[in-house]
Order: sequence, then C-alpha cells, then structure tokens
Amino acid sequence: MKIPKSITINGVRIRIQWVKNLRSSTGQVLQGQHSGIDDEMSLAITDHEDRAAMVFLHEIIHAIDGDLNLKMKEKDVRQLAACLHGVIVTNNLDFRSKK
Ligand SMILES: [Zn+2]
Repeated sequence: MKIPKSITINGVRIRIQWVKNLRSSTGQVLQGQHSGIDDEMSLAITDHEDRAAMVFLHEIIHAIDGDLNLKMKEKDVRQLAACLHGVIVTNNLDFRSKK
C-alpha cells in the first residue's frame, strides 16, 4: 500500500509525517498518532510495509471516529484496521482506474 503525503478525510486535509522514535506526550512508544485536533498524522518510520499500512489505516479510522463522534474503543479500531488491511491486501484492491 502506497502511503500518500497527505490524505483528505471528510473534507479535512491531513498531512502525513514520518517520525523516528514516535512517542506520546507521556513517553509511550507509538506506531502512529493523530490527535483529531491538528491537521497532521504521524507515523513511525518502519521497514515493515504491512505494519505501516495497518497503522495508516488505524489512524484513518481514528480520524473518521473523531470526525463522526462515533466513540469507538481502541480495541475496535485495532481490529477494524487489521481486518480492513487484510481485505485490501488479500483482494489486491486498488480503486483507481487503470490507464
Ligand atoms: Zn489507536
């Protein structure tokens, strides 16, 4: 999965930034972060393409959850991201029309 430099979610453009040693404000090691307030999504730099894609989907789901005020549980976001990633990869989904 190719991760873009920015993504628009429900009309809000969010910049993607890759971060070495991504940590929360309390020092916890993170794979990804999107506060829902700013217009940036941070992803931890990794050599694992599948992991990066899954974290990217995870943060997208968090962004949608925040925008729609769904109040999803972290566990549900994690499972949904993993399942969605599996569907995309297993079915080799690419919604762009081929030219
Ligand atoms: Zn999360």
